[in-house]
Amino acid sequence: MSHPKGLYLLFVTEMSERFSYYGMRALLTLYMVSALFSMDGASQVYGTFTSLVYLTPLIGGYIADRYWGNRRSILTGGSFMAIGQLLLFFSACAIHPSIHEEGGMIDASVDNSLSIILMMCGLGLLIIGNGFFKPNIVTMVGDLYEPNDRRKDSAFTIFYMGVNVGALFAPLVCGLFEGDIFDPGRFKWGFLIACIVITTSMLIFYLFKSTYLVTPEGRQIGLAPVTTSQSKEQADHQPLTRKDYRHMLVIVILSLFVISFWAAYEQAGVSLTFFTDQQTDRVFFGWEMPTSWFQSFPAFFCVALAPVMSWMWPKLGKYEPHPVNKLAIGLLLLSISYFIISMGVKDVPVGVRVSFLWITSLYFIQTVGELALSPIGLSLVNKLAPRRFASLMMGIWYLSTSVSNYLAGQLSTLYPDGSSAPKSILGYEITTLNEFFFLFVIMSGIASLLLFALSPVIKKMMED
Ligand code: GLN
Repeated sequence: MSHPKGLYLLFVTEMSERFSYYGMRALLTLYMVSALFSMDGASQVYGTFTSLVYLTPLIGGYIADRYWGNRRSILTGGSFMAIGQLLLFFSACAIHPSIHEEGGMIDASVDNSLSIILMMCGLGLLIIGNGFFKPNIVTMVGDLYEPNDRRKDSAFTIFYMGVNVGALFAPLVCGLFEGDIFDPGRFKWGFLIACIVITTSMLIFYLFKSTYLVTPEGRQIGLAPVTTSQSKEQADHQPLTRKDYRHMLVIVILSLFVISFWAAYEQAGVSLTFFTDQQTDRVFFGWEMPTSWFQSFPAFFCVALAPVMSWMWPKLGKYEPHPVNKLAIGLLLLSISYFIISMGVKDVPVGVRVSFLWITSLYFIQTVGELALSPIGLSLVNKLAPRRFASLMMGIWYLSTSVSNYLAGQLSTLYPDGSSAPKSILGYEITTLNEFFFLFVIMSGIASLLLFALSPVIKKMMED
């Protein structure tokens, strides 16, 4: 199946942007706990940040659909992100260790407030930047094709591989610069690399956009939506049909369901990072693998499995599940992945390390679920959204990730650290790791069953 060259330009642009995002993200919690915040505090900041990062696509999508078009939005967003990464670099340049290397005493005279301020400003710019970037690059993937082109699902899966090639290498490269409580300044190099990569991404996009981002007939895509005031008026008065509203409602309903998926999935950056750091045996033949490298596992599985999955779906012929059921399968697999790890850590006390195979099998099964849910979801949103709200509706889809990431940070604070009183949520008490992981089994298990049950109704709503 051949694809337009524009897909590969978007692939490279997204790959480098995701490299920069995930590279920074792999270091962020570790950076914060090294000298700025407690584990709970770091979870809160991380959760709020990753939630806001996915809230702004709503605004970025709206502004692009109405005023700027996708191209200008992507370039603006990318530039904001480059400056944001630079501020994180400055933050880590200004940081001081707060623990004495000899004796491990806390030094009360250390003031890291400048680093905190620089970090917060940097995160703020990343939040705004992502809002302009994310929904718009995805919309452009769909726009390279005719609305009913059969290659769209495959295009989104290829694009999703780009996301994950970036996410795969980022923690490996940036993770080489993991600092610690004695040397928190070392994190700066990771942030600097993230800055250089997003800047390169923007240059590539800027240089090649006019050549490759065209429709099959050669018309430029992603330009500002209207040029004359007359056509603007026409666009404003073209009413949405009942079908349009029905399709938009489907996008909203599905977005609600995927909240529980990403809330569990995104534990990777928080509680699962703590789990890997403190409770997973990471020593192989005398060498200790950096914690942040484990964040590459889902991306690695994604890149390896994406071709298999996109080959497998059509092979199933009449047994190929409907896209809505694929989303439900994704949720079910997530539930199973947490079930397995919850069994693995049963009766393991806080502080004792377990085999790396537990976290690895969680990431493996979760990723099969991700491939059933995420690229299929993007493609669905692109096909269902009315053209002139294409990026805005993508923003709605990402809104669910925003809610999830916020929840992920909150839920991560329930991670049993052994030091405090039992934690509880909705009457469910958590004292052991097993109980903590089981929470996610319940959450995504219920969502999956409910979506299977509702799928006949949703399928009807999707009809033309
Ligand atoms: N991992 C994907 C990305 O970064 C999916 C994000 C999401 O929708 N939650 O693009």
